[in-house]
Amino acid sequence: MIRFDQVSVTYDEAAGPALAQLDLTVPEGELVLLVGPSGVGKSTLLGTVSGLVPHFTGGTLRGRVTVAGRDTRTHRPRELADVVGTVGQDPLAHFVTDTVEDELAYGMESLGLAPDVMRRRVEETLDLLGLAELRERPIATLSGGQRQRVAIGSVLTPHPKVLVLDEPTSALDPAAAEEVLAVLQRLVHDLGTTVLMAEHRLERVVHYADQVILLPGPGQAPVIGAPADVMAV
Ligand code: ADP
Ligand code: ADP
Repeated sequence: MIRFDQVSVTYDEAAGPALAQLDLTVPEGELVLLVGPSGVGKSTLLGTVSGLVPHFTGGTLRGRVTVAGRDTRTHRPRELADVVGTVGQDPLAHFVTDTVEDELAYGMESLGLAPDVMRRRVEETLDLLGLAELRERPIATLSGGQRQRVAIGSVLTPHPKVLVLDEPTSALDPAAAEEVLAVLQRLVHDLGTTVLMAEHRLERVVHYADQVILLPGPGQAPVIGAPADVMAV
């Protein structure tokens, strides 16, 4: 579903590459956890999938990243909305409208869908994420877990094949984190979405993962496998 072919990212030539000649294939329809020490390049790797690298954060990308066959470098992130949805650590940074239902609809704006299709997708996403009762609520009045579910919903309405999340639970208390992780697990199981998520609080998330990718250190090859096998490395 996601393929990395000899991918290197350099922000600053003097500092050396943030990712070096990475080869990796992320399987389809699984919840995949990305782990590794701080600074090893997890956010950079996620950024190459969502198109944030190089289009928004800068950096030079060499090699090729494809998501469902689409090259992320030759498309702007907005043009990838129906392939990959991206959610960050801070849901507040994500929102552009006031209410829950407007936010879900906004994610589809660039797709050119008919109004009735957009309405149906908002309804289906509200139900899927347990947000139906909150549809008219101003986002500012929601809890952290509810906000993060809205952020996920807003990138889901284009029906992406892949969801990329950079530490989606790190700003949440344990109960809200469980709420968000349960939703992600449901997307994988019910819709076959591929979820790729970086997280440093392993004890919180590892039992939700189908696969773990470990970036052991700068320039070292990634290790991918079942959670128990990778965590034993
Ligand atoms: P992680 O997510 O594993 O902590 P990052 O991908 O954030 O790692 O960072 C990898 C390396 O790239 C670090 O040395 C970091 O300082 C550097 N880096 C990340 N983003 C940028 C940027 N936008 N500009 C310059 N350097 C960056
Ligand atoms: P469209 O909006 O293209 O007319 P529908 O809304 O009828 O299509 O949904 C098509 C199918 O996609 C439904 O079976 C629905 O369950 C499923 N679906 C719902 N949400 C998602 C999603 N986020 N990603 C992929 N498929 C989804």
